[in-house]
Amino acid sequence: MPLTVEIDPHSGFCGGVTRAIEKAESLLAARPGMHLYSLGAIVHNEAELERLSAKGLVTIGRDEFDAMGDSSGKTLLIRAHGEPPATYAEAASKSFEIADCTCPVVLRLQERIREAWARLRENGGQLLIFGKIGHAEVLGLLGQTDGGAVIVENGEMLEELIGNGGIDLGRPAEFFSQTTKSSEEYAALCAGLRSRMAAFRGMTPEEFDASGLLRVHDSICAQVSSRHERLRAFAAAHDVILFVSGRSSSNGKVLYDLCRSVNARTCHISSPDGIRPEWFRDGDRVGVCGATSTPKWLLERVADAVKFATVPANS
Ligand code: SF4
Repeated sequence: MPLTVEIDPHSGFCGGVTRAIEKAESLLAARPGMHLYSLGAIVHNEAELERLSAKGLVTIGRDEFDAMGDSSGKTLLIRAHGEPPATYAEAASKSFEIADCTCPVVLRLQERIREAWARLRENGGQLLIFGKIGHAEVLGLLGQTDGGAVIVENGEMLEELIGNGGIDLGRPAEFFSQTTKSSEEYAALCAGLRSRMAAFRGMTPEEFDASGLLRVHDSICAQVSSRHERLRAFAAAHDVILFVSGRSSSNGKVLYDLCRSVNARTCHISSPDGIRPEWFRDGDRVGVCGATSTPKWLLERVADAVKFATVPANS
């Protein structure tokens, strides 16, 4: 029996990435020959980056940006992840024009973090962010607190920080999450901190909640969290899942793990070239899906390649 293949209708770029790419393309089309520099990859997907680079978008790293001198006549694109205030100051000092493509959801989160930081400085509290150390969005969020927020990557790190005093159970705290993290992991971290803080003060969970000493903010992007449930169902409904994402996509890692948790035959690829015939058995229903940074056209190419895949004779 031949393979059947279906593309997850909810996979593909999120609104923030779509908006940034459209803005870059419209700038390049309107001003041919312009010098448009993206500070960091506009999307964590090598194939899409190649497509945009052919249109004239130049991706530069932080070191390259720091080394640049007077940049009059050049435009710096701030990608959907956002940047800390120091980047805007540095760009202005070099006379860059700025094309700010920070996702509105991230901009709002930066604002909420600035407000919380101001509150916490008054009551001696601490601000925690669940996110990946060094991730561009996290650096932008951290910059709203002058580097004063504590980044927590996972439960192990939370315990470590409590142990070494990086998190003080006796002080008020506010907790935020990077927009692309898993809601379940964030809920588990918040619950862990809540019980540790309540125990430290000898309070019941109810007394502790009433005290307002820990404020948890729902800051995971709705486009990401709604995708999780749908993706779980999609992965469970197919025999094999081909998960397509760039190697450095943080959201890609989260969603790949999620697919794998419900379907052990989940395979990660970044392009159709990565497909291996031995992954398939006769008559398999193959599902193709990806991260918020995976373009639809790439999912379509993968699906087309599956249609022509030859299943090994002994399967
Ligand atoms: S995942 Fe959500 S918050 Fe992040 S860029 Fe996309 S739309 Fe914006």
